[in-house]
Amino acid sequence: MLLAQKGHEVLLVDRASFPREKTCGDGLTPRAAETLRRLGLETKVASCSHKVKSARMYSPSGQTVTATFASMVHHLPPHGYVISRIRLDDILCQEAQKAGAGFLPGTKVEDFLWNDGTVQGIVARSKGSIRKLRANVVVVATGASMHLPKRLGIAPASPYDVLAVRGYWEGVEGLDDALEFHLPPQVSLGYVWLFPESKDIANIGICFYRLFGAKHPMPSRAMKHLIESYPNFRKRLRHARPTGKVKGYPIRTDFPKCPILGPGWLAVGEATGLVNPVTGEGIDLAMESGELAAKALHKALKAGRLDMQALKSYRQDMNRQFAGMFRGLRIIRSLIIRPKALEIYIRQANRHPGLFRRVFRIMLGAAPVYEALFPSTWWWFLKP
Ligand SMILES: Cc1cc2nc3c(=O)[nH]c(=O)nc-3n(C[C@H](O)[C@H](O)[C@H](O)COP(=O)(O)OP(=O)(O)OC[C@H]3O[C@@H](n4cnc5c(N)ncnc54)[C@H](O)[C@@H]3O)c2cc1C
Repeated sequence: MLLAQKGHEVLLVDRASFPREKTCGDGLTPRAAETLRRLGLETKVASCSHKVKSARMYSPSGQTVTATFASMVHHLPPHGYVISRIRLDDILCQEAQKAGAGFLPGTKVEDFLWNDGTVQGIVARSKGSIRKLRANVVVVATGASMHLPKRLGIAPASPYDVLAVRGYWEGVEGLDDALEFHLPPQVSLGYVWLFPESKDIANIGICFYRLFGAKHPMPSRAMKHLIESYPNFRKRLRHARPTGKVKGYPIRTDFPKCPILGPGWLAVGEATGLVNPVTGEGIDLAMESGELAAKALHKALKAGRLDMQALKSYRQDMNRQFAGMFRGLRIIRSLIIRPKALEIYIRQANRHPGLFRRVFRIMLGAAPVYEALFPSTWWWFLKP
């Protein structure tokens, strides 16, 4: 959209026909709200979303702690949204077309056109026929799919260290304007989310961390077990009914290990492993990486140079914006998977709201990780 707005010729190619479903928790963080605002799309997205103003955490023993986004993130909007991906992605796709981008739906990119090691376009299949499309530069935005990274020779050996599964329930009790994060004993090495889509519809999901070769149950079985045996959900879902199928998908969180640009191509979003390794949230980061890519490409296209040297600023901007954050989030994840540490954290966070706000701000990528090292963090953590 941004490149089309600047007058460049852009063609979007997607194997799906829009509007299309995408397996997701549908949660937009305040960071995502801020990007939508910058893109001039927040009002449109807000009109078909459920606005959320706080985050709530439930500990393994059932303690809860809540904080408003307003108290956590001062430089971002004091809210986020929950919106189904059928709607959100369709809005983004339509806005790009309004800005002048072309769109080929139902068209799978199978390979690249190569010339002497440089990508010069794509080979795409649509309704059984193959098309070759030339381009000055190809932007790979294919999410967690490994097909095109394999073609580029950049697919990591074990790309997925998070697996998430979600379903929708209608008639859920006790929904308000909070994104809920539950840590029930039923789920080890992960967490459960309950995001309100409306006053009585919730997107409920489990995020499993695939660490230390951990074996997790089949996602749909894990979800069934959770709904039936977790007291909080048993109570709140007693009159609820599932709508649609429970679906799962692996998530890439391997930024910044993977190459993100090469001769004639660059990658954005989850195709660069840019998904928060603690929360599994990546819509906000995907949109931000799209902005950075558009900035670098606009500059390079204007200068008439698309070589690696000209696009180097994209790699630098991506590292500046996300590398430190990802290092810190991995440290946080290694702490929160220890139930004892987590229980102490939630108990202390209940006594000292500043502790909850600080850790949550960092988890959402809304504050630098070094804030965890401030003396007040340790004071709140250890104070009786
Ligand atoms: C169960 C689950 C829950 C999640 N919950 C959240 C959440 O609540 N909040 C959040 O911020 N993030 C969440 N995420 C992560 C989020 O979905 C991703 O980070 C985000 O969608 C990445 O955006 P993207 O544009 O990079 O890729 P995608 O949104 O995956 O889009 C990739 C597009 O590429 C197309 N495509 C793929 N391969 C090809 C090909 N060969 N040819 C043509 N087209 C192709 C696909 O059809 C798709 O339209 C969740 C993920 C999962 C699996």
